Amino acid sequence: MSEDCIFCQILSEQASCYAVHETRYTKTFLDIFPVAPGHCLIVTKDHYQDIFEATPDAISMVGHVSTLIAHTVKDELQADGVGVYQLNGAAAGQTVFHYHMHVIPRNTGEEISIHSRLPGDPAELEAMAARLSARAYSMREDE
Ligand code: 5GP
Ligand code: ZN
Repeated sequence: MSEDCIFCQILSEQASCYAVHETRYTKTFLDIFPVAPGHCLIVTKDHYQDIFEATPDAISMVGHVSTLIAHTVKDELQADGVGVYQLNGAAAGQTVFHYHMHVIPRNTGEEISIHSRLPGDPAELEAMAARLSARAYSMREDE
């Protein structure tokens, strides 16, 4: 736990989030500045700044969950494609220094951006989290 890390505060429930999915090693919630509806973040439960600090096991856990969440957003939102990526270091565009993976539904013709400054509407985020969560937990592991 890192005191001034917003993702650690979410993990310890000192800050709220729109939760989608949880495992022993990861938590998935909505990005509150979504670049597209359904933009998810998968975070490690332990605090690692980036790929250089995270253990291969922790990174594997996030990778494993990223397949489930990619299927979840693709199926639930009928997305044409899904962006799965993560950034390391300010020079690469990282803005929250706690290892995480973005999972972003994408549709043909839409402009691709990495960050947004516009906060999502709370009611829409809540409804989206409920939909994606129900879908994620209903998926079989081999789907
Ligand atoms: P990065 O730029 O580090 O790859 O991604 C960090 C992401 O965290 C950004 O897309 C940003 O919108 C998101 N973010 C920043 N603060 C919060 C927050 O308090 N809650 C949630 N759910 N997402 C946040
Ligand atoms: Zn943290």
